[in-house]
Amino acid sequence: MAIRIIYEKCTLCRQCIDVCPFGAIEIKDDKLFINENCNLCGLCVKTCPEDALIKEEKTISAVDISQYKGIWFFAESRDGKLCPVALEMLNAALKLKKDLGEEVAGVLIGNNVKCLADELKTRGADRVYVIDDPLLEHFKEEPYAIAMAQLITKHKPNIVIAAATMMGRAFIPSVAARIKTGLTADCTDVSIDPETKLLVQTRPTFGGNLMARIICKNHRPQMATIRPKMFDEVPEIEDSPLEIILEQFNKNDLQDRVILLGKEKIENIIDLQEAEVIVSGGRGVKEPKNFAMIKELADLLGGAVGASRAAVDSGWIPYPHQVGQTGKTVKPKIYIACGISGAIQHLAGMQTSDYIIAINKDPDAPIFRVANLGIVGDIFEVIPALIKRIKENKKC
Ligand SMILES: Cc1cc2nc3c(=O)[nH]c(=O)nc-3n(C[C@H](O)[C@H](O)[C@H](O)COP(=O)(O)OP(=O)(O)OC[C@H]3O[C@@H](n4cnc5c(N)ncnc54)[C@H](O)[C@@H]3O)c2cc1C
Repeated sequence: MAIRIIYEKCTLCRQCIDVCPFGAIEIKDDKLFINENCNLCGLCVKTCPEDALIKEEKTISAVDISQYKGIWFFAESRDGKLCPVALEMLNAALKLKKDLGEEVAGVLIGNNVKCLADELKTRGADRVYVIDDPLLEHFKEEPYAIAMAQLITKHKPNIVIAAATMMGRAFIPSVAARIKTGLTADCTDVSIDPETKLLVQTRPTFGGNLMARIICKNHRPQMATIRPKMFDEVPEIEDSPLEIILEQFNKNDLQDRVILLGKEKIENIIDLQEAEVIVSGGRGVKEPKNFAMIKELADLLGGAVGASRAAVDSGWIPYPHQVGQTGKTVKPKIYIACGISGAIQHLAGMQTSDYIIAINKDPDAPIFRVANLGIVGDIFEVIPALIKRIKENKKC
């Protein structure tokens, strides 16, 4: 898209300059000029009394779109193991396959990762591309981005998805920039538009107040990262034929400016998205020190501590613990919501949990509508009683 100026009609009346909120229109050498601040809002077009400004939709297809076929997912692996999130991405890719009818391929990048392809055999992928190289032993953004970009340039997939994990968020934008296509980061859903067959990439925007549906019309591949836990892990199916394609890592472009000196495991890091049990506290917890009670219950159950945004915004617990639309999306086996009302933005992050227990003193709290088990009561009575009972049971 672009704003075109029809100079023959422009009278330099300055009305467009006055109305532009971005200071994007100037007069230079007695001529109207649109600078790089323009965000194509179109206010100038509507304001111009002479119809001297036109919003044009330029179709600049940088590539021959018809050459791009297939749905790819990045099969993330760490420490020689396939990450569960890879199976979530495969599930998302298979959902797209149903509506698009194109083959699904995984991409494995690392050192000695070829054996991991076997784990994809029983999961419904058609093909897996493997780049195995000692230089890819440890995750570094530049070599991984180069490897992925090489594969894309060679095989021309139509769609590429990856999980919005630390790894995906780190290197997938660099892949998109290298191959000059767009990327929608942190999607909560992906689907195929039935008419255009384009990838519809859904993600929250404006601080979570709107859900944007984004398409990539003129560039390929269509790329998105998807939040973990938005899709279930794909179930096992009868042994399905899987073509394994080994590719070489072309290091010509590699500058490898990052040197890995060593690796240290950070203890007590919270991994809410992998936790099987989450005990979350909300405004009902009342004070930061009372999160000790939430943590004690979580520890006894081998779980992690979550929180509502109200608790995080009050400074009672750091942001990485926040569950919800602007926090993490979780899907534990058991989610215990303590003193959380159940606002829609909180539910957006936890309502697909397998079993939800809510403790709230208000019997009408919306959290009870999604809870499998609701306890109407004061958390300062219920939680200590639960802790006591669990400890007693552990002694037996
Ligand atoms: C754009 C946007 C994005 C947002 N993103 C998120 C998000 O990611 N995550 C999120 O959580 N929120 C999010 N919110 C905020 C959300 O709308 C709610 O304000 C928030 O979830 C409320 O948190 P809460 O349930 O802890 O607090 P409240 O709504 O105040 O509820 C506190 C609950 O505790 C109960 N209670 C009080 N004392 C006790 C007690 N002693 N025992 C038992 N129960 C008790 C009360 O009955 C009440 O139901 C977002 C809002 C917006 C606008």
